[in-house]
Amino acid sequence: MHRRLALMLLASARALRPIASLRGGAKTLRRASAAPTMSDTHPAASSTPEGVRDRLGFATQLRRRRDSELTGCDRRRHFDYLVIGAGSGGIASARRAATHGAKVAVCEKGALGGTCVNVGCVPKKVMYNAAHIMECVHDAPLYQYSGTESVKLDWNKLKTARDNYVTRLNGIYGRNMEGSGVAKLEGLASFTGPNEVEVAGTKYTADNILIAVGGKPTMPADLEGVEHCISSDGFFLLEEMPSSALVVGAGYIAVEMAGILHALGCETELAVRGEKPLRAFDDLMSDTLVSEMARQGLTLRPKTTIGKVEDINGKKRVTHTDGTVLGEYDEVLLAVGREPLTGPLALDKAGVKLDDKNRYIAVDDFQNTSAEGVYALGDVCGNVELTPMAIAAGRRLADRLFANVNGKADYSDVPTVVFSHPPIGTVGLTEKQAVEKYGEGNVKVWTSTFVNLWYGPMPIDPADKPRTAMKMVTAGKNELIVGLHVIGVGADEMLQGFAVAVKMGATKADFDSCVALHPTAAEEFVTLAPWGEGAGDKKGLGEKPVPQI
Ligand SMILES: Cc1cc2nc3c(=O)[nH]c(=O)nc-3n(C[C@H](O)[C@H](O)[C@H](O)COP(=O)(O)OP(=O)(O)OC[C@H]3O[C@@H](n4cnc5c(N)ncnc54)[C@H](O)[C@@H]3O)c2cc1C
Repeated sequence: MHRRLALMLLASARALRPIASLRGGAKTLRRASAAPTMSDTHPAASSTPEGVRDRLGFATQLRRRRDSELTGCDRRRHFDYLVIGAGSGGIASARRAATHGAKVAVCEKGALGGTCVNVGCVPKKVMYNAAHIMECVHDAPLYQYSGTESVKLDWNKLKTARDNYVTRLNGIYGRNMEGSGVAKLEGLASFTGPNEVEVAGTKYTADNILIAVGGKPTMPADLEGVEHCISSDGFFLLEEMPSSALVVGAGYIAVEMAGILHALGCETELAVRGEKPLRAFDDLMSDTLVSEMARQGLTLRPKTTIGKVEDINGKKRVTHTDGTVLGEYDEVLLAVGREPLTGPLALDKAGVKLDDKNRYIAVDDFQNTSAEGVYALGDVCGNVELTPMAIAAGRRLADRLFANVNGKADYSDVPTVVFSHPPIGTVGLTEKQAVEKYGEGNVKVWTSTFVNLWYGPMPIDPADKPRTAMKMVTAGKNELIVGLHVIGVGADEMLQGFAVAVKMGATKADFDSCVALHPTAAEEFVTLAPWGEGAGDKKGLGEKPVPQI
């Protein structure tokens, strides 16, 4: 009976869709709020396709029916959807569910926006931008500017401006949630039963609960003197720029923070346990980055494991496990990994299980945990720990739960950028991964290494000019692109569009069929030699799909 009612409602909502589309005209996918744009914040500022609103009713009707069965007090504390964590994934999912008519609450123990807004992507990008400006200042005399010697960064003032910006974003997130009708519950949430969560001494129940609590930096308890070190969170608390720093870690956060500090004038060393940082990336990317670091004077300490950190009159003395003293630094920044914030959740009370390694929350492809009606996504699941991934998973889940849309987040071919100096953009498989997956004989690789025109007129030895490096990895006779990698000026803004092509199944011939944008670095991707001779190349005679009207 209930199911039939729900299906009838859904059918009538679908019947309304063409009317809504006509009303929206070509602008069907307009932004719903007056919040800043993507470039101002990040995607959680959110867009609400009108088509989504057309499905509104499904969740509302289910809720009204259920509400009538609850007492007044229960009703206030009962939700269709209770989201734990107001970070990238949690807010996106909560707001999407609310647009479908669900009664939604989000519990948050800290500032709205989670890691990305407060201690991740956003403040990091501000610092990266500052570092980029400083690089331009250094390059300016090579473009015949004078008077740049006196340019200095006031770190403290920049920190204040950055913090103000983050506070503004926190406010925008709050208003967006309010505007979407999402209730906010302040405090640390933990389960008290299968469908019950306690926040600040009050118990709430929900038919569906989402765990989107993210993670925190790992500070290894077995490192002697760990209390003298800072994490990436601590980096954003620094009131002044350190004059020297040792950054420890081989992942993208370590690389980014070392690069920022170095570019801003801090004497920086990067210590990695293996041979080089970013080992999970394509070798062309990590090797080019290592050369660039050397050229820029950022000291890389390979095969280095920290054994002890001591505070000597405010300076941090660091000793290698082999007994060698590495040096004394103003700051030692550990970026050696992150761990999911599962501890305080009392997951056992809800029957939510962790993965085989007892680390992340175990979920299936649809974000279902082992407990019925409890879902998890984002960093707490450990699969593609990036903001847009958490947002996509959150929205797909809300659509499935409250608009009866059969869909799931797609974790394949997720593009990513490392804001190193220079930046790296990558999507798909590395060459090694492609060979492992398809076999050496089935993989082809196109590469290009060149000097960006930016450095062209600079009066320096051409051999000393930084290189941009690109790699296209294809598989099969049809030369399907399975990996694209680029390091160099502008790589961060280059790859998003190419990633769409990769998702669509582009081949080398498809890339060759697109005329280059000149003079740019991106054009190299569509002119990789040999050009116009790829498998399936249509020699300009192919037909483009036409709109199906
Ligand atoms: C330094 C740094 C730089 C980064 N740069 C990028 C980047 O450039 N691009 C990118 O895509 N990603 C980047 N990331 C990763 C990105 O920030 C995360 O992938 C993303 O924030 C994960 O979203 P989430 O929703 O899973 O969790 P989060 O955004 O971490 O949100 C979780 C929220 O849950 C709250 N919470 C936790 N436990 C509880 C509880 N028990 N009760 C109530 N509330 C709770 C937390 O306070 C937090 O607000 C970066 C991360 C770091 C650390």
